[in-house]
Amino acid sequence: MSQVIAALQPLLSSPLLLGADIGERYSHDWSSEPACMPIAVARPASTEEVASILRTCAAHAQPVVVQGGLSGLCGGANPQRGELALSLERLSGIEEIDHAAMTMTVKAGTPLQVIQEAAAAAGFVFPLDLGARGSCNIGGNIATNAGGNQVLRFGMTRNLVLGLEAVLADGTVVSSLNKMLKNNAAYDLKQLFIGSEGTLGIVTRAVLRLYPRAQSRCSALLALRDFPQVIDLLHRLSRDFAGGLSAFEVMWDSYYHYITDHVKGVASPFAERFPLYALVELEGGNQQRDQMLFESVLGEALEQGTVIDAVIAASQRDRERFWKIRDGVAEIGVFIRDSANFDVSVPISAMQEFLASIDKDMRAQFPDLTKLVFGHVADSNLHIICATGRREDIKPLYKVLYDTVGRFQGSVSAEHGIGVQKLDYLYHSRTPAELALMRSLKQALDPQGLLNPGRVLRREP
Ligand SMILES: Cc1cc2nc3c(=O)[nH]c(=O)nc-3n(C[C@H](O)[C@H](O)[C@H](O)COP(=O)(O)OP(=O)(O)OC[C@H]3O[C@@H](n4cnc5c(N)ncnc54)[C@H](O)[C@@H]3O)c2cc1C
Repeated sequence: MSQVIAALQPLLSSPLLLGADIGERYSHDWSSEPACMPIAVARPASTEEVASILRTCAAHAQPVVVQGGLSGLCGGANPQRGELALSLERLSGIEEIDHAAMTMTVKAGTPLQVIQEAAAAAGFVFPLDLGARGSCNIGGNIATNAGGNQVLRFGMTRNLVLGLEAVLADGTVVSSLNKMLKNNAAYDLKQLFIGSEGTLGIVTRAVLRLYPRAQSRCSALLALRDFPQVIDLLHRLSRDFAGGLSAFEVMWDSYYHYITDHVKGVASPFAERFPLYALVELEGGNQQRDQMLFESVLGEALEQGTVIDAVIAASQRDRERFWKIRDGVAEIGVFIRDSANFDVSVPISAMQEFLASIDKDMRAQFPDLTKLVFGHVADSNLHIICATGRREDIKPLYKVLYDTVGRFQGSVSAEHGIGVQKLDYLYHSRTPAELALMRSLKQALDPQGLLNPGRVLRREP
């Protein structure tokens, strides 16, 4: 037994998982990055336990990989050789709902869906929502600054966190479980841990912002002719729904028809095929009044040719049917293997040209390419799935796409993060000065380079 394992065992409330007891699930996330078994898995149940594990690992120069719900898509939580996995799965639960402050204090390993359900039961909404809601944890959401379906209205995870507690690589606990929206008392240190993918500290608890629950929701699936129509529609709905536009999910024909043709239980409500589709939603305070507004704005858009066809949800079942098309992406792994998956952002004004450019460059190199495009669009985010069926084409596909993102001054990661997958391309979206400052922060907070080493930033030679 190695020294660090012997030193850790007596500190823990649950024994370390070792050897054959380490389940395969601790070896990889949802990305296609290589899986690897950790040397052991620690599953602390309190902040103090996380701190004592990190103190001990620091004393033995033991590298640690942090694991939440393992739904990440960039390989950040995949162990690398010789790493100890620290899983937050037992550090789970809701500590408090403060009705007056409209906040919820949670432990980092709490699944997102549990938080959403607890907020709903208390008459509120926690508006972070993504397809992996059942498996991802709030700590992972915070560490990746997750986006999801409602960024347009509520912002990314960063906007939903008021207070945070994190443990540094040397075991120091930095706790600021702030509940106030306004707090300019010097540096806002929580921002260091939000979106830094476990490289600067381990998130252990957080104070989340809750919102009043919408009293109404209206949904529609719209068919569009071209991308300029998408922009027109977005502007029209943002203006006419007076801040109530809560979803604007665009699906290009390639994605839409792939899902409706392949995924079981998913069907298009349109008889015809169209070049583009948008799933749009309005949330507000009165179902009857909002439904009238919704129908009249969409009716006008149809009359004026901004959309070419529309199906308005008449029931919750209809709404779920529309979302099944958008969320069908989670089901296509069985049909499309060895794909290069992108979550990039480019300015909306350049999106059409960007897509035409990658299409031309990719098809020149890979004539048999399957390419599916969809995205939240209003927040500049596009998801693109590319596959030729050949694993060796993944890296060349990355190169074409990320080089193009660089030319269009976009971001190589809109919401999933860098992990290990995008290390080679980060320079497209960050300047040398930004990268140098990131390295200084890493050096200051984790001088031995023990927390998630080689994720986000390459290891120093
Ligand atoms: C079907 C599906 C749909 C998805 N949709 C979206 C989407 O719409 N938007 C979006 O942004 N993402 C999406 N994702 C990606 C993924 O769900 C998010 O990145 C999620 O936030 C990861 O949470 P997790 O708990 O699974 O983290 P993990 O995968 O376990 O970890 C992700 C990263 O965070 C670090 N980490 C985890 N917990 C902590 C912690 N407590 N402290 C410090 N570091 C930590 C890990 O080391 C790793 O680097 C989707 C994934 C799937 C599979």
